[in-house]
Amino acid sequence: MNLPAIDNRDKELAMALQEGEIYRCPDEDCACEITVTKGAAPGHGRDRHPTCCCGHVMEEAG
Ligand SMILES: [Zn+2]
Repeated sequence: MNLPAIDNRDKELAMALQEGEIYRCPDEDCACEITVTKGAAPGHGRDRHPTCCCGHVMEEAG
């Protein structure tokens, strides 16, 4: 996988849902996990995390 280098100077432009990122549901009974296969277009995405099918906002997994 070829990920673009992250430039710290553009930190305020950080977006959620970049290609290759993994998001996990915080509900242990659900524990759904997703991988982003295609990120939002530069300048069009925002920093909102995706919401799981169970209703919880998913967290980026390390
Ligand atoms: Zn869930």
